Amino acid sequence: ESLVRAGADELERAAEAALRPRRLEEFVGQRVVRDQLSLVLQAALNRGRAPDHVLLSGPPGLGKTTLAMIIAAELGASLRVTSGPAIQHAGDLAAVLSSLEEGEVLFIDEIHRLARPAEELLYVAMEDFRVDVVVGKGAGASAIPLSLPPFTVVGATTRAGLLPAPLRDRFGFTGHLDFYADDELERVLMRSAGLLDVPLEGRAAAEIASRSRGTPRIANRLLRRVRDWAEVRGDGRLTLSAARAALEVYEVDERGLDRLDRSVLQALCLRFGGGPVGLTTLAVAVGEEPETVETVAEPFLVREGLVGRTPRGRVAMPAAWDHLGLERPAPADT
Ligand code: ADP
Repeated sequence: ESLVRAGADELERAAEAALRPRRLEEFVGQRVVRDQLSLVLQAALNRGRAPDHVLLSGPPGLGKTTLAMIIAAELGASLRVTSGPAIQHAGDLAAVLSSLEEGEVLFIDEIHRLARPAEELLYVAMEDFRVDVVVGKGAGASAIPLSLPPFTVVGATTRAGLLPAPLRDRFGFTGHLDFYADDELERVLMRSAGLLDVPLEGRAAAEIASRSRGTPRIANRLLRRVRDWAEVRGDGRLTLSAARAALEVYEVDERGLDRLDRSVLQALCLRFGGGPVGLTTLAVAVGEEPETVETVAEPFLVREGLVGRTPRGRVAMPAAWDHLGLERPAPADT
């Protein structure tokens, strides 16, 4: 089963890659970040120097990887891609860093998940363009400083607050990506439909956008599912009714909640009486990793006013009971 899943993930990634905007001006929405980045890049180009390191933060699927690729493209530089979890040892990172060429962009996804020794090596490299290569072992070991050509790190993280201050401080520019408005998602969808050459009607685009949790990745994924439905069960046109029927099959409700979101809400309301309940306990109850619940489901549920975060844990907001069609509990005596 995991092989089939891996294959499906591959396909999804390829489908996603085909829809990525290549230049800053094609990147929809996020006007503030786009504006700021365009200045940083133009200034660097004018000076003929590598720009400051860039940190991008925000929930998954909002365009961090896409922006990293765009940064390299706008600079006419090549891009090297790695991620926090992919770097097991500081030595792995040293190898990547020491092979960088002048002006290259190094994208580090999930940078908050770098192990401590790698993190320390990275901030020295970012600050002084130097890595200390350790030769030998034990008492006889010595560090040989190796200087690096100027390069730019683009780090991505789901929460900037997770980064230790010394690392965070090495970034000259931090862009916070926020959930997209529905009309921006509609533009993402119309653009994607054009690239995929599928006939997407305006009202269908609006319907898909409103159920995409403010997230372009989800919008594009739902678009592909609606296309599947239209081709197999419809007449090939992506109409409002095709969109509604497809989204029902895929269990995406009118508010855009999917199965994981609903199971989090259900666990909160039914198993824990509305909370407060700790993140780990909640994650175990829905059979997910705490990080998945925290970064994938929670930001949207909080923004929608369905879940609250308190010092004592997560709580169901009154709207959560309404959304699940449950009776709100009587207010507790306090
Ligand atoms: P992240 O790295 O933040 O998880 P990605 O950069 O991988 O997100 O974006 C996910 C998908 O959403 C990509 O396929 C990309 O095509 C699309 N996407 C993201 N942001 C935008 C945008 N502003 N305009 C158009 N498409 C976007």
